Amino acid sequence: MKNLTVCDMHCDTLTKAFDKKKLLFSNSLNVNLKNLNQYHSYTQFFAVFISPQYYSNPKKRCFDVINYMYNQITKNHEKITICKNLNDINKAINDNKLSAFLSIEGGEAIEELNDLKTFYDLGVRMLTLTWNFDNHIAGANGSNIGLSSFGKSVINKMNELGMIVDLSHSSIKTFFDVLEITDKPVVLSHSNSYTICPHQRNITDEQFKVLKQNNGCVGINFYPDFLTNSKKAEIFDIVAHIEYFLSLGGEDNISIGSDFDGIDYIATGIKSPTDVYKIFNLLSQRGISDEVIEKIAYKNIYRIIGICL
Ligand SMILES: [Zn+2]
Repeated sequence: MKNLTVCDMHCDTLTKAFDKKKLLFSNSLNVNLKNLNQYHSYTQFFAVFISPQYYSNPKKRCFDVINYMYNQITKNHEKITICKNLNDINKAINDNKLSAFLSIEGGEAIEELNDLKTFYDLGVRMLTLTWNFDNHIAGANGSNIGLSSFGKSVINKMNELGMIVDLSHSSIKTFFDVLEITDKPVVLSHSNSYTICPHQRNITDEQFKVLKQNNGCVGINFYPDFLTNSKKAEIFDIVAHIEYFLSLGGEDNISIGSDFDGIDYIATGIKSPTDVYKIFNLLSQRGISDEVIEKIAYKNIYRIIGICL
């Protein structure tokens, strides 16, 4: 695996470690330094997740979790570093370090437009507009609500600052509203194909077609509910979603969004980043070229980081 480069757009390890008072990089969770360290280079987006119990003061919740991230990064600064752009990733690779990006999952944290700059200055480079409930920015999955007028100014400001718009958890209407006004590629950091698995957290063929035109990317989620609509899934099911998006001409628009430590069970055979290479091995066995596999493993996200940040 030491020749493989991987980038994963979404895990909940940071928030879980903070809540359970565990060390971020040395723990029994899915993601830790040992598990990330098996590869030539591993870039992991760490989400600050705002669960509904924190909706009364979502900004404080974010500050607390981000503070913990920097505390833990400082303690492991020889092995992992916070990245804010593509240059930072390249520097991390040269320094033989892992790359970490910060994201916020829940637009509740953005109470006024200036909050985006505050979080940007703290190193946050991706915002998931909603979790599973509508908010003042946008409608969530399953809802008929789209982007609010405040939400439009949020998208414009994110484009201007250099922060990636994440539409996982968003409603279909939000997706199309955002795609109409954004001038940068967007991501669905941890969602799958609705055609293969009809679940409201997944993306329809029509959405994927527009995502391709936008030069954006969908990160394949390892949660069985979103892979097979059941409690059971295997690595083959992850590959089935990838192959389906490939059949739609999406080789530039697929990546990984594991959802490690945010889900109560995972596809069999994928317990941690250590196992992620198995997906690429299976793709290779099924005749997918190394060039396409590299795009899925990291190049497609690197492209978006390069354009947006
Ligand atoms: Zn999520």
